Amino acid sequence: MEPNSAVERPAQEAAQAARFHVSSHQDTISIMKHKFLIATFAVVLATATTFAFAFPVPTACLLIGVAELNRLSDGSLTESELEADQQRQLQLTQDARARIESTFGTAESKPILVFFDQPDGFGPFRLNAYGSTQFIGSRACVMVGPKGQNVDVVAHELMHAEIHYRVGYLKRFMQLPTWFDEGVAMQVDYRPRYLLSPQDAQKTAFVRDLTTYSTFFKGDDEALTRNYASAKHEVATWLSKVGPTSLYSRLQRLRDGQSFAEVIAE
Ligand SMILES: [Zn+2]
Repeated sequence: MEPNSAVERPAQEAAQAARFHVSSHQDTISIMKHKFLIATFAVVLATATTFAFAFPVPTACLLIGVAELNRLSDGSLTESELEADQQRQLQLTQDARARIESTFGTAESKPILVFFDQPDGFGPFRLNAYGSTQFIGSRACVMVGPKGQNVDVVAHELMHAEIHYRVGYLKRFMQLPTWFDEGVAMQVDYRPRYLLSPQDAQKTAFVRDLTTYSTFFKGDDEALTRNYASAKHEVATWLSKVGPTSLYSRLQRLRDGQSFAEVIAE
């Protein structure tokens, strides 16, 4: 998850966006395809309302198969038709995966990676302009927006997908604290705004109380930046003691039933 997350728009607005999208297409097959998309989207929204308190519903990840996107040679999806964009995106993914490998070891997860062009998402899907990762069961979708097409954001989001792959959907959702998930993703995200001054680096322990999505992603831009930077610092300090190459085996132990406290014990 990235800072400045776009707040989910109400269902009505999303449906309007979807209708507008349809009216701009003249091709009959395309219209039928979009009608199906809207119908499915409406069902998902109804489901989302019912279960919103239990599980977040990753709508775009669920419906990505009906979106009109171009497939790159590594299997990634992109909105762009331009060869130059596509080559740049392929290189970006390669560099991001190399950064994860040199930090923690080879990334084994194969999330659906989507590059979109407009800051508010694509089709009826409202997405973070930088990047976000959605999960549905074992499926993970990394959605990279126009502001996030750099190795920091792509590596950050691919790391979330790798954690999900190693821990499993339910264990990640129920047991993995948000500060830890974000702190680990920040280890492959080198953006300078998330580096702390020496004084602030003394005051990062508070972030360990931000165990849930709603407590971590709370407050203004300054507070969120502080949360990300503090989580990054806490996890970096922990990794300097236990060694970054022990991360995957620790996540496996969480998957196998150990508690988070046991898994992170130094
Ligand atoms: Zn994140």
